[in-house]
Formats: sequence, structure tokens, C-alpha cells
Amino acid sequence: MVEVRLENLKKYFDKGRVKAVDGVNLTIKDGEFLVLLGPSGCGKTTTLRMIAGLETPTGGKIWFGERDVTYLPPKDRNISMVFQSYAVWPHMTVYDNIAFPLKIKKYPKDEIDKRVKWAAELLQIEELLDRYPAQLSGGQRQRVAVARAIVVEPDVLLMDEPLSNLDAKLRVAMRAEIKKLQTKLKVTTIYVTHDQVEAMTMGNRIAVMNKGKLLQVGPPTEVYLKPNSIFVATFIGAPEMNLLEVSVKEKDDSIILEGEGFEIPLSRDFKELLERYIDKTVVFGIRPEHMTIEGISSLEHVKRSTTIEGTVDFIEALGTDTIVHANIGSGQIIKVKLPGHIPLEVGSKVKIVIDLDNIHVFDKDTEKAII
Ligand code: ATP
Repeated sequence: MVEVRLENLKKYFDKGRVKAVDGVNLTIKDGEFLVLLGPSGCGKTTTLRMIAGLETPTGGKIWFGERDVTYLPPKDRNISMVFQSYAVWPHMTVYDNIAFPLKIKKYPKDEIDKRVKWAAELLQIEELLDRYPAQLSGGQRQRVAVARAIVVEPDVLLMDEPLSNLDAKLRVAMRAEIKKLQTKLKVTTIYVTHDQVEAMTMGNRIAVMNKGKLLQVGPPTEVYLKPNSIFVATFIGAPEMNLLEVSVKEKDDSIILEGEGFEIPLSRDFKELLERYIDKTVVFGIRPEHMTIEGISSLEHVKRSTTIEGTVDFIEALGTDTIVHANIGSGQIIKVKLPGHIPLEVGSKVKIVIDLDNIHVFDKDTEKAII
């Protein structure tokens, strides 16, 4: 086990025209499960490949504990990697696939046998050891790939979208299994995904990337409840956070966010933070699940709230939840997520209750969080 430290890590392609990774500083703690999350092309895979030694950095350093591994070849790093395409060898049995990295390292036969059986038992594939990959399902093949990755007891386990080739149901099941396995083995794990649900449910911490830069690192609930930018706020959570342009007004010593056709009074506590935005436009954010509709359901544990008026524009009934799209004036639509089935009809007038302890305010220009 080892702590991994990325120090101003950079990777430029095409003579510097593509800044795939652009100055990333990040420490992955010993035994931690860190998820690198971001949209396609943000630099996640390139970061992972540099940690693996498959890509040489343009600048910066990579440390495994006290060891500078920046220019060390992959074989000297004691890492294992699991890819999206399971990359199991079709001409080898499951046993030989799992044994392969041990054979390369010239482990004695007895030790190989012991370790293969240990890994197969952990992944519950003991019954499949004599089969060839063509005789396995996608999920079973991915288990073989994971068994092969852990059999060497790596210092660092790297996973690049390992579940994205599986169907939705299997993906959910494997998520939990990989998480449980990592908790048991306590191996430092870096897991790349663009799936925010995977990130929320698996990571001890999530590192959100965009355009080669690290935007925010923190435990899932922190990143979800206190996003530091519009990008992080909208990338995590479905349906995404509602964003509305409002102007900041001062009235009788208190602060009001004034939108077209609605007003949101804020607690005095926010006055200092918003002082320099008075009479300016900011972006107000509220998650669909941090609102409700008066007379339909109540928000539990809500201490402070305010209501705004709207007209139901559209209803998405999802079975477990209902997403109500409400027009709050001037064509602005706000989405409210409510549990269960909601007896509302398009055109009904509604009062939307906003939980004032879960609101967000962003700077319109920098898109950084103010509240
Ligand atoms: P995805 O989820 O689609 O795999 P990603 O976040 O993992 O995306 P990377 O694969 O790291 O993103 O790519 C980051 C950027 O670097 C992209 O713009 C990509 O086109 C570019 N890139 C990656 N590898 C190379 C390469 N070998 N040559 C040139 N550009 C590259």
C-alpha cells in the first residue's frame, strides 16, 4: 500500500496545442478509493496512464510514498490496471489469465496456485478457472480482469471505466462488489469514470476534472452539497441543479435575490458574502430535490424556506420519483423532484417551496461559488 502524490502534473499533446492534463496537484491517501470524474476528453485517462507509467509527463512529478516514479517504467511501479475493454487473453483459460502476471514475475508454482485460488475465491469465479474467456459472460470476464489485477497485490490499483461495457443491472451489482473488495484489500485505488452515480457511490473522495484541470476534490456528499463552481454543481446530480440569473438587492438591511417574477429573501448571514454583488447579476442555484410543492409533500428537516409561484408545464413520472417542470414566469422553467406519484396536472398553479439552507449562488463571470 502506498500514498500517491501528483505534483503539478502536465501532459501536452500536439506540440502543446492539446493540454490534456494541465497542472494537476492531488494526493491519494494510502488505502483510499479515489474517483477521477469528468466529461469525455477532460484528461482522466491521460492522468491514469501517467500514474501507470504508460505515458511520460510533459511536466510535474508523480510520487509513490517517498519514491519519485515519474520516469519509472510500468513494470517497476507495482501497479495493476483494469481497463474498460476487459483485455483478458482469449487463448488462455481463466486460471492462466489470472496466473499470467505472477508467471512474468517468476513466482514459484505453488505460490502461483495459492494466489490464483485466493483471487478467484474473492471474485467468486472458482468454478470458472478451466473455462476460456469466450465461454464467459461480460460480467464474468470483468471479474477475471479484476482477479488478474489484484493477484499480484499491487501497491496501487488503477481502473479506467471498468464497468462501462456491462449492462445497467450488472453495472450496479459490480459497483458494490468492487467497492467491497477494495474495502477488504485496502489497496490505494484510482478509478476513472464519467458516471457521476458511480463516483458518488464508490469513492471515499471524488476529484472532478474539466479541460485538464482539477476543479474540486472532496468526499461525495461535500462535492454534492458544496460544489465550488457551476461546472461541478451541474455535473453532479440528476436532474441537474436549476440555475437562474438574479440580481442582488439590498432591502431594509437584508439581502434579496430578485429574479423575473420571483424573489428569494436571504438570511443576514449572507450579507457579507454578497456585499460586493449588490445591484449586480449572479447565478442562483437550487437542486430539484431541495424543493417541494406546497400541499403536495413537505421537505423534512427544513428550517428556513421561501415560496415562489409557478405553473406546471410538464410532468415526468419516474415511478419512484416525479419531476415537475414548473414555469415561474418569462418562460423560465424550474425542475422540482418529489418522491412517489404526484397528483398534479399540466396547467395547475403551484407554490414551490425552496429550502433556503440548500441554495447556491455563483459569480456570473468566474462561475465560482459565492455561497
Ligand atoms: P474519455 O472519458 O473520453 O476517455 P478522458 O477524460 O479520459 O476522456 P483523455 O483520454 O485523457 O480524456 O484525453 C484528454 C485530451 O487529450 C483529449 O482532448 C484527447 O483528444 C487528447 N489526447 C489524448 N491522447 C492523445 C494523444 N495520444 N495524442 C493527441 N491527443 C491526445
